[in-house]
Amino acid sequence: MPESENPYLLLTPGPLSTSRTVKDVMLRDWCTWDDDYNQIVQQIRSAIVNLAAGSSAEYTSVLMQGSGTFSVESVIGSVMPKDSGKLLVLANGAYGKRLATISSMLHLNHLVLDWGDTGEVIPEDVERILESDSFTHLVMVHCETTTGMLNPIEQIGEIAQKYALCFIVDAMSSFGGIPIDMEQWGIDFLISSANKCIQGVPGFGFVVAKRESMENIKGFARSHSLDLHDQWKTMETANGKWRFTSPTHVVRAFRQALLELDEEGGIENRHQRYTQNQKQLVAGFRKIGFQTLLDDRLHSPIITTFLSPDHPEYDFKKFYNHLKARGFVIYPGKVTEYNCFRVGNIGEVYSTDIDKLVEAASASMYWV
Ligand SMILES: *Cc1c(COP(=O)(O)O)cnc(C)c1O
Repeated sequence: MPESENPYLLLTPGPLSTSRTVKDVMLRDWCTWDDDYNQIVQQIRSAIVNLAAGSSAEYTSVLMQGSGTFSVESVIGSVMPKDSGKLLVLANGAYGKRLATISSMLHLNHLVLDWGDTGEVIPEDVERILESDSFTHLVMVHCETTTGMLNPIEQIGEIAQKYALCFIVDAMSSFGGIPIDMEQWGIDFLISSANKCIQGVPGFGFVVAKRESMENIKGFARSHSLDLHDQWKTMETANGKWRFTSPTHVVRAFRQALLELDEEGGIENRHQRYTQNQKQLVAGFRKIGFQTLLDDRLHSPIITTFLSPDHPEYDFKKFYNHLKARGFVIYPGKVTEYNCFRVGNIGEVYSTDIDKLVEAASASMYWV
């Protein structure tokens, strides 16, 4: 098999399986300060604003080198004044905990409200905390990739607006796959990355922000390379210029991925495809004997956690290898209290792939 052929489909939450055409456009080299390249950056910047906030001129965007976490750290470390403000961090999984870790390492004045890895975010709990102390910022995860749980950002956004908080959402694993309306939901900063639901390759993250909120954070950053405002200001005033070396091939691939999202019929249609994948996966896996960790009403269409079979001979790595040999790569579990594994539904994955996966899983159950 040539190196350019994929021996298996990635059923992971990113990097994920991308189209041949997304990979093909990476064969050309680009000059980072040339107009040809900077135009691509500008097209991307306006396309992602459009996807998150429609044609509103009140929103803007910025791209940031690194994996998604770099963009999260860039936002958290750039939005709070140096000696005032208080951040409320909501957590119900590993990615929520990561927001807390970043806040603590940056020595931010913050409080973490944690419902545990399988707990739901409860809006009433959030309001109670907000009543008890004066907060200025609130950060949370949209789709908690740890379990696949979809958090109620719309409801929390309402609360954030009521308390006039700067609302930051880690929409890493949902943006592009689940419709989001920043304006209506009162989101100030929305973070995602190239290699998730837009179906690009890894190498940078991005932030869509309310223009006014972005303008207000000048000079707040705690890191030079992750200074969100400075990165934005340069891109904004120098027509798509990055401050430091940018992942040119990845950026070019991302524009192709955006084009393909459009060809698919936009976020609505992609959301439907992922939802169909997820429903079909759960139905098929239940039929062959697996159980999901979460209630159906809590599931996102992005990724699903299954409990490991309660059998002395079951071993994840063995099951994984059996499936891999049949063309599918799944994901280990990340919930500490449960023995489980995860299957992603995003990327170049279609209904027919899910049928084949269920068949392959059935044939890989060596312990039954
Ligand atoms: C993937 C992901 C991230 C970022 O992870 P990286 O490995 O840094 O790209 C952050 N939050 C959520 C919810 C994610 O799914």
